[in-house]
Amino acid sequence: MSPEEFPLAPKEPAGAEDAQPGRIATVAGRPDGPGAAAYCWYCYQPNPHPTGECTTCGQRIEPPAGTTATDIELWALSHPDADRRRQAVHQLGARHEPRAARPLHGLVTSDHTDPELAVAAMYALVDICGRDACMATLDHVAATGPGPVRAAAFHLLST
Ligand SMILES: [Zn+2]
Repeated sequence: MSPEEFPLAPKEPAGAEDAQPGRIATVAGRPDGPGAAAYCWYCYQPNPHPTGECTTCGQRIEPPAGTTATDIELWALSHPDADRRRQAVHQLGARHEPRAARPLHGLVTSDHTDPELAVAAMYALVDICGRDACMATLDHVAATGPGPVRAAAFHLLST
């Protein structure tokens, strides 16, 4: 099954999903298919069951009550599954979510293991904050980032 069949959050207008935390609270802990692991809200470790105690950290696997779709997207920025991280970056950038600015900045400046994600995070950060507010960050990664990240920073600086 492709990840597209299991979107991270419901495709609804921003704000609408936040009004129904009870429904979306099950999303983060939900398996991505038959036999797939459910990831712990607290430690991101996979579990064989979608709810209950985490086999690694002992916390509840599912998100706490009141968790919003945006909270889940922010959580997914650190997800062990690269596709979930990338999906969260795109969704948060498309919605111009201000709470994503700090973690996206972290992905842009410190994630050298996944340059493709760092590039996506850079574009999302510019979407959220505007290019002018990102100039110092773009200058920094244009000088220090891995190849694809440098190239994207130069592109953004020159447009
Ligand atoms: Zn855990």
